[in-house]
Amino acid sequence: MIFNVKRIQMLMVLMVVWFAQTASAKVKVVATVPQFAWMVDAIGGEYVETRYLATPTQDPHYVDARPSFIPYLNKADMLVLAGLQLEAGWLPSLIQNARNTKINVGTVGYVDASTVIQMKGIAMGLNQPVTRALGDLHPGGNPHYYFDPYSMRAIIPFLVERLSTIDPEHALYYKESASELDARLTMLIEKYQPQLKGLKVVGYHLSFQNLFNTFGIENPINVEPFPGIPPSPKHIAKVSLLLKNKGADGLLAEVYYPKKIIQTVAQIGQATLILVPPGQKKQDIVNWFESILKQLAKLKIAKGVS
Ligand SMILES: [Zn+2]
Repeated sequence: MIFNVKRIQMLMVLMVVWFAQTASAKVKVVATVPQFAWMVDAIGGEYVETRYLATPTQDPHYVDARPSFIPYLNKADMLVLAGLQLEAGWLPSLIQNARNTKINVGTVGYVDASTVIQMKGIAMGLNQPVTRALGDLHPGGNPHYYFDPYSMRAIIPFLVERLSTIDPEHALYYKESASELDARLTMLIEKYQPQLKGLKVVGYHLSFQNLFNTFGIENPINVEPFPGIPPSPKHIAKVSLLLKNKGADGLLAEVYYPKKIIQTVAQIGQATLILVPPGQKKQDIVNWFESILKQLAKLKIAKGVS
């Protein structure tokens, strides 16, 4: 009898250990920008543990390669990046210092989402001449396709493939939640395409080409004359005047660009300013996209009234 009690106790200890191991066996994913972490959350659910390096209020072209990032990268099973040289200034040294063979370039855990975007011919802006004078931040095309639900929908199979290779046990779960995410993004795109078509929107940085392309939005000018080149007073005046003369319906900008310039343009141009919402740490990616699209749709309504 005593022997049996001991056996049961032993069995319980083993079960606790097994549960603890199972619980800790989440796929650890580090993303460079939040949008990729939110995509992986939507597909991986409870089987993934995500973290992102550039916060929504940081310019992803210029992130401090902080030493505090190293432990996360060191333990990561997967690294998701935008590629197209967005992270070229800070990510390579972090990868090197992390000394984690799972996320080295060319491994299963190194997930450069732009490979899909390029393969499917989605990346925009490639026909522009690339010189230092014209801004050298986007030499391979627009790396900010993560603002576009259509582009992000395209990378779903790639994320599923890599997650399933790293964690085959939950492959079916990843496949099912991915198809749900795909359906939600498709519905979102179909809902807003007719509402946004024909809108004219000014950006601050050349970030929204893919988004604008998906929804048939025209982009007559941006506040930055070329990616990474700050606007001259003359260019600021030109953009403001265009807005004031209704050559565009609104201004869309990320929060990390100079507030003073953005507000000046919006004020002189008498234009509605839409700031890209930062989102929560754990954000439903579809809802986040919709929070931008909703604000853009209001521009269309305002246009119709005037
Ligand atoms: Zn850029």
